[in-house]
Order: sequence, then C-alpha cells, then structure tokens
Amino acid sequence: MRVLITGATRGIGAGLAQHYRDQGDSVMGTGRIGGDGPRLDVTDPESHSALAAAVGDVPIDLLVCNAGVYLDKGHAMESGYSASLWAETLAVNVTGVFLTVQALLPNIRRSTAPKIAVISSKMGSHTLAPGGSYIYRASKAAVLNVGRNLAAELKPDGIAVGIYHPGWVRTDMGGPQAAVSLDESVAGLASRFDALSLENTGCFEAWDGETLPL
Ligand code: NDP
Repeated sequence: MRVLITGATRGIGAGLAQHYRDQGDSVMGTGRIGGDGPRLDVTDPESHSALAAAVGDVPIDLLVCNAGVYLDKGHAMESGYSASLWAETLAVNVTGVFLTVQALLPNIRRSTAPKIAVISSKMGSHTLAPGGSYIYRASKAAVLNVGRNLAAELKPDGIAVGIYHPGWVRTDMGGPQAAVSLDESVAGLASRFDALSLENTGCFEAWDGETLPL
C-alpha cells in the first residue's frame, strides 16, 4: 500500500508514518519544514503544486490529511480569538485539507482501492458543543463538512472518505495530561482506516471505533 500523510514531522502524523513503515507499506510523510519526507506547507498552493510534481503519477492508496493547528487553546472570550488566528487556523485546518485532496486526487484515482482519511476532532461536532476554543471547534466542524461532501462526491468514483477523532492524545498539541497514548491512537486510527470502505464512506468515528454525532 502507498500512503501519504501530511504533518508527519511529529505527533500523530509521525506515529502513523512509523506504523505504516513498520508494516512494510510505502510511506510519504510530508513536513512543512522538518523531516525527511516531501515538503508541504498545506496553506501554500505553490507547495501543493510542487508536492504533486514530486509525487508524479504514483498511485496513492491512502491519503491521511493530518496536519493541523490548535492556536486558541485556553483563550478567554474577552481578550482572545483574534481575527489573525481565525485566518491562520482556517488556512491550515480547512483550506489545507481541501487543497491537499485537490492536488493529489489524480494520484488517488490511480489506486485500485483508494481511501482518504480526514483528521478532524470530536470538538468539531455540532452536537457536542460546550463552548470555548471557538476557532479550533469551527475549523474542525468545517473540515468535517468538507469530508462529508467529498465522501458524497467521490463515492461514484470508488473513493472512500472517512472523518476521524484521534482521541485526546499525548502529543505537543494534546499535552502531557492527555488521556490516550500516541501508540494507542495510532493503532486505533489505522484499524479505523482499514475498516473504511464505500459502505461506510462519510463516517465520523473516534480512534476506538465510537461513532460520533455530527
Ligand atoms: P502536533 O501539534 O503534535 O503536530 C501537528 C503536525 O501538523 C506537525 O507535523 C506540524 O508540522 C503539522 N503542521 C502544522 N501546520 C502545518 C502546515 N501549515 N503545513 C503542514 N503541516 C503543518 O499535533 P497532533 O499530532 O496532536 O495532531 C494531529 C492532528 O490531530 C491535527 O489535525 C489535530 O487537530 C488532530 N487532533 C489532535 C488531538 C490531540 O489530542 N492531540 C485531538 C483531536 C484532534 P510542524 O512540525 O512543521 O509544525
């Protein structure tokens, strides 16, 4: 299997890249600045064109749109949530995912069993909406919407699209108090991606298999 994972320099992306390498798959783990994989800043259209050129006409069986930021963690309503943070977050977490899929769609179409995994978050659910983290929540809700629409549009082409919550994971983003280890999250996500098919395309699931409310 050929796998391309965005944001593979650290955290969940790096863990997933290692998981697929360990099982003998061919992995392209992209990095914005670091890492040894192809370069990709998901906010930059020229970077997407360069990545597509570097990948060439190789088929991609699994695309994992993982790169993301959480810039408004702990912000207060009175003083936080600046307009510039809204713009930066949406550029990475929403536009970045769409541009990645768009740039690599020709490669995905070359696969015999193509899948796209969008890493959103439980915090993007409209049902589970306790307030706070307005920018991050809105970005993850928007990318859930992008994933659901891609699933509908690409189903006739045989491309399955799933949207996932990785758990609250001990990474730079999740922090040391998070409930789930990197290994647990990676193993859980990989088994969810294995279970993704045209039958359940458009699913919104957690790493442990829980179906999440939209
Ligand atoms: P980390 O902060 O540990 O890693 C984020 C990754 O995204 C890094 O590789 C980073 O690259 C990359 N990235 C950020 N901005 C860009 C960009 N503009 N272009 C390309 N790559 C970029 O996060 P996690 O591993 O914890 O999170 C991975 C995904 O899981 C994210 O989408 C996150 O929202 C989601 N998630 C995480 C949860 C958690 O508890 N950890 C909970 C729910 C969802 P660089 O090293 O260059 O900064």
